[in-house]
Amino acid sequence: MVKTPGIHHITAMVNDAQRNIDFYAGVLGLRLVKKTINFDRPEVYHLYFGNETGEPGTVITFFPWAKQPKGRIGTGQVGVTSYVIPTGSISFWKERLKKFGIRTIQNARFGEGYLQFQDPDGLELELVERNEGEVNHWRIGDITPEVAIKGFGGATLISAQPHKTADVLETVLGLECLGQEEGFLRFKSAPALGNIIDIKLTPSVRGLMGAGTVHHLAWRAKDEENLMSWRTLLQEKGYHPTEIRDRNYFKAVYFHEQGGILFEIATDLPGFTVDEPEVELGKKLMLPSWLESKREELEGILPAVGVPVFREIKD
Ligand code: ZN
Repeated sequence: MVKTPGIHHITAMVNDAQRNIDFYAGVLGLRLVKKTINFDRPEVYHLYFGNETGEPGTVITFFPWAKQPKGRIGTGQVGVTSYVIPTGSISFWKERLKKFGIRTIQNARFGEGYLQFQDPDGLELELVERNEGEVNHWRIGDITPEVAIKGFGGATLISAQPHKTADVLETVLGLECLGQEEGFLRFKSAPALGNIIDIKLTPSVRGLMGAGTVHHLAWRAKDEENLMSWRTLLQEKGYHPTEIRDRNYFKAVYFHEQGGILFEIATDLPGFTVDEPEVELGKKLMLPSWLESKREELEGILPAVGVPVFREIKD
């Protein structure tokens, strides 16, 4: 069986593009690695934030759309997105978030401490200290590599049928079950980032798609051959995967697992340097070739946005 190396990216919906950039780039210090549009709805941005090179396992993406109604986090969704920070940096983050007026709660599961908070649209996030994962050298504002977010720690899934979701993780995606503790089932895949998945076992409200909720979680496939074998396996198991879609930066297949969560499987390659060099990532609006002729029109519709450099507000 092919095993996924873990999370490729997580995609969520929010209302405001600039507020989204201010938070993920300005406050959390991630790099805006791609500024493009929703290929299915070109009048909406698709923003990607990750480590300095936008490696799989570090990338969160957003569709910011002002008119979108607010959603509700619940079953059939990713409930919490976890980020890994270097060991010893949690107090830095607690202070930094406080200075930006963001309330945090400290929590623990499976013997690890978590700093939990919400983004400006209400998405649930948390930071966890781990030794694993390469240092992120992207520098912005006061964030140094010693404290910078390395990438995803993983995610907590809120499934309408937790044991069916557990089955997909184990028998399709090849994750290993590590055990159960206080209402969570924990799974692990091999690599250092985006590799710990918790399934919440206690009841939750039904999730409603909209701003402030995760749209889908994408798993990593090494290449297109792996992607095709997963597509075949999904069909054999009675799922309904889409055709392989070309997302410019990766090829992808989408399917709903039985707990209601939209999963995607996406190839590691070609990656974000396919249409602009690493030093230029995220600076310019990138369009797929079939929309290049509409650049002027789209630039007129999309709100102007930029990456801020926030120095911490001194007391
Ligand atoms: Zn995706």
